[in-house]
Amino acid sequence: MPALSANSASVALSGFVDAPVGQGKALHELVRRLFPICRSITGDGVRQTLAILGEYLPGLQVHEVPTGTPALDWTVPREWNVRDAWVKNQRGERVIDFQAHNLHLMSYSVPVHGWFTRTELDEHLHSLPAQPGLIPYRTSYYADAWGFCLPHTQRLALTDDIYEVCIDSTLAPGALTYGELLLPGASADEVLISSHICHPSLANDNLSGLAVAAFLAQHLAQAPRQYSYRFVFVPGTIGSITWLSRNFDAVGRVRHGLVLTLLGEAGQFTYKQSRRGTAVIDRAAALVLNRAGMPHAVRAFSPYGYDERQYCSPGFDLPVGCLSRTPFGEFPEYHTSADNLDFVRPATLQASLHLVQELLAVLDANRRYRNRSPYGEPQLGRRGLYKNVGGGLDGAAWQMALLWVLNLSDGHHSLLDIAERAELPFAQVHQAATALAATDLLELLPD
Ligand code: ZN
Repeated sequence: MPALSANSASVALSGFVDAPVGQGKALHELVRRLFPICRSITGDGVRQTLAILGEYLPGLQVHEVPTGTPALDWTVPREWNVRDAWVKNQRGERVIDFQAHNLHLMSYSVPVHGWFTRTELDEHLHSLPAQPGLIPYRTSYYADAWGFCLPHTQRLALTDDIYEVCIDSTLAPGALTYGELLLPGASADEVLISSHICHPSLANDNLSGLAVAAFLAQHLAQAPRQYSYRFVFVPGTIGSITWLSRNFDAVGRVRHGLVLTLLGEAGQFTYKQSRRGTAVIDRAAALVLNRAGMPHAVRAFSPYGYDERQYCSPGFDLPVGCLSRTPFGEFPEYHTSADNLDFVRPATLQASLHLVQELLAVLDANRRYRNRSPYGEPQLGRRGLYKNVGGGLDGAAWQMALLWVLNLSDGHHSLLDIAERAELPFAQVHQAATALAATDLLELLPD
């Protein structure tokens, strides 16, 4: 087959993919607003974050699930909140100060107040000798503990014999908070978009995912939708497990799903396949990434990572992949104070949003048709189809798209099947199908 021009970006799908220029600044502004908040898997930081997201997403519902509620094999934990935390020297100077950076306090630290020797204190300190200028991010969700995180250089400078420690936190019955937004479409079948909402002042992980998901939802709210779209903003692991435990009905309607995370730095896109590996979203992601003409990687599923672990647990086995740029743990800023507002860029946030819009546009437009004149090639010229060249396609490319759609529209092949087999951009195949469906040659089949 001759090579055809790949001009997918110029062919809009149902108004899905037109990202306004300059949207990257607005994405970054949302990241900047969310950055100072001290989030964890529960607590007021999650509520404040959802309140801000609610300004962007008027229909966002906030759910509170009480401590102690069973959730699959887990239980909703106690709620954690913190007002202040510090380590002072004998002169009363704060040598480690939560107010200066919320990463200084290990998340879920139990309350503490007292004097500790340098040796005793050291057992509760976390630093990175190989990255001595950075504060690491540490948590202790499920074991009662406390700790401070600090640059290794700062740790080496703590040479006094005793220090006063105060962690003014509460760990008490409360609730786990998550957000959810449903955008109903023509079909009750759903596309699930999930982002974790539990990290404190870390920009790429996880605020980039929240910002892209929020702007994606804003965009889809204005677009014609075949599917219904369900956005969940959940604390990692326990949040998705809690959501799953309360939503068996919705789970049964999920046809495609995507976890969005790590989408703000400049690394190449990485798509992690669903557990099934051959789900429609796995194939659509590969198609869109290949056609985007950017370096990227597609990785097979593994039962580690983000909330796809829960959605792809064997009992659910949902067709949920994970889209990121450089994967977790593979960039030096990961889970450190270097994952800051300079590390995520407006342009990369915007490019990430645009890619996700293209992927969802493929899923939403991926239908099956039947050729109603399958005996021999129908006459295209008589129906004016040769003239209907649009979207920057040349005549030969347009003709190939028409012929492929007619040939493979036997009721079994979807437009994605056709795009894959014809090695054509999905948008061209969709455009050809739309033109053919406007004549007597092609009929849309029900899902
Ligand atoms: Zn993380």
